[in-house]
Amino acid sequence: MTSTRHDGDTWDLASSVGATATMAAMTRAIATRADRRLIEDPFAEPLVRAVGVDVLTRLATGELPPDDLVGQLAIDGAKVRTKFYDEFFLDAANAGITQAVILAAGLDSRAYRLPWPAGTVVYEVDQPQVVEFKTRTLAGLGAAPTADRRVAAADLRDDWPAALRTAGFDPALPTAWSAEGLLGYLPPDAQDHLLDTITELSAPGSRVATESRPNPKPGDDDRTKEGLRRISERWRAHGFDLDHARLRYFGERNEAAPYLADRGWALTVIGNRDLFAAGGLLSLEDDDLRMGDVVYVSGTLGDRDHEAGHRTTLS
Ligand code: SAM
Repeated sequence: MTSTRHDGDTWDLASSVGATATMAAMTRAIATRADRRLIEDPFAEPLVRAVGVDVLTRLATGELPPDDLVGQLAIDGAKVRTKFYDEFFLDAANAGITQAVILAAGLDSRAYRLPWPAGTVVYEVDQPQVVEFKTRTLAGLGAAPTADRRVAAADLRDDWPAALRTAGFDPALPTAWSAEGLLGYLPPDAQDHLLDTITELSAPGSRVATESRPNPKPGDDDRTKEGLRRISERWRAHGFDLDHARLRYFGERNEAAPYLADRGWALTVIGNRDLFAAGGLLSLEDDDLRMGDVVYVSGTLGDRDHEAGHRTTLS
């Protein structure tokens, strides 16, 4: 049984919010096996196997077919999401940004699989048990990072910049930041604080990428919770007991794109439906989890001194 979220709660990769990182990696393992056009994550399967949640391992290795446990929408969603963030980081690196920060890194293996230019430093921030597990497991597999990888073990509702600075982060350098699969797991005020902190730590020319959803219309949250309960039931029948509806924070929050735009970021917003179409994938119909409403947000911070008095608008 999953207990309700509370300030300061912690987890490993088999429990609470940590298990969602293992599920994301499991979905990347399935997607990688199915179709390497959009995603190529060779570390997803061994990482999931190392966590040791039986049903997730059997799905990641292909022993258990995804069927109704991991639908095609989720598999295609992993493809477009992975491609979006891969391209975001490679574009930033090719534009000369040498410092990247992957917030809520989970079992993301970009620091081990992307062709980072020499001299790039990649910071990964997540809860201590999560980052330590990944470091240990990939070292045990003989995997070597493709960048200067540094970890900052911290809670993102807490003083994570201190951990980042201790790891060597330099706020004077432009940074490429990602917050992938994160915002819904933060309370609304913690999300605002995170986006404010990213902005404060960003030199002009820094880039940011995240996903968000428009605020729910009446009835949306109830439908999503009901959909998540049905999903949790199916997992429970396979011995994996995680109450998905209890892991997220529902209700209204500031939407990431306008919030960041108000703080000086020039942003591009692209809808999940458009990314599915661009990838030649299934068309996204309305579903209880509102996948079609997800938007991918990315952009660049202007020079605050030159832009004083101006408000950057969303493109
Ligand atoms: N970004 C990874 C990916 O896409 O595979 C992981 C996404 S997973 C859905 C959510 C991640 O957010 C988990 O790794 C979890 O540990 C992290 N996370 C959520 N809230 C956090 C917090 N308050 N502090 C640190 N990490 C957090």
